[in-house]
Amino acid sequence: MMGNTHVWAGITAALLAVRPENPASCVIPVTMGALGGLLPDVDIRRSRHGKEILIAWLMVLFLAIAGVVLDLYLKTGYLSLLWQRLRGTPVLGAFLVAFMVLWGRRTPHRTLTHSFFFVGACAGAMYLILPPLALPFAAGGLSHLLLDALNRKPESLLYPFPGGCCMGLCRADGAVNTLLLVGCLGLDFFLVLRLVFPS
Ligand SMILES: [Zn+2]
Repeated sequence: MMGNTHVWAGITAALLAVRPENPASCVIPVTMGALGGLLPDVDIRRSRHGKEILIAWLMVLFLAIAGVVLDLYLKTGYLSLLWQRLRGTPVLGAFLVAFMVLWGRRTPHRTLTHSFFFVGACAGAMYLILPPLALPFAAGGLSHLLLDALNRKPESLLYPFPGGCCMGLCRADGAVNTLLLVGCLGLDFFLVLRLVFPS
């Protein structure tokens, strides 16, 4: 399916999973559902500047390693100070999300990032950052896997196990996509407006 369909379907799944009780408590399900709904497509490489960016990332990595070596050699103590700040679980979760995203960007389309393993690992990482982020993210991610399963290109739901599955019912950019987009968009507005204007 197309990106905006995944975003709105992710929000729908998150709102239905979390069932917020007032408008303010819609913020997390809306943002995390949208993120979870779109994140699996991080494996689509649209940029023509991939090589250039990779070199820039390697440069940053090199500078970071050089900094660590210098810190140990000069005994400046920045590293131990940094470690004290980084020890909490939220930072661990953020690193795990970043790791999964970078790994996902290196894999072929509809393999790692379109698996229960990827959605589960990212949702677990979100839990480490802040527990209420996990459920709406997982709902958004699973909605992505479900919608893509309708298409004709197989997705590796059980990655790292080989084999892919798809129902082959529709094209990613066809009429079904438009129908789902409009349906989810309408449902999202209905679910949120019902909280803003309770009868
Ligand atoms: Zn996808």
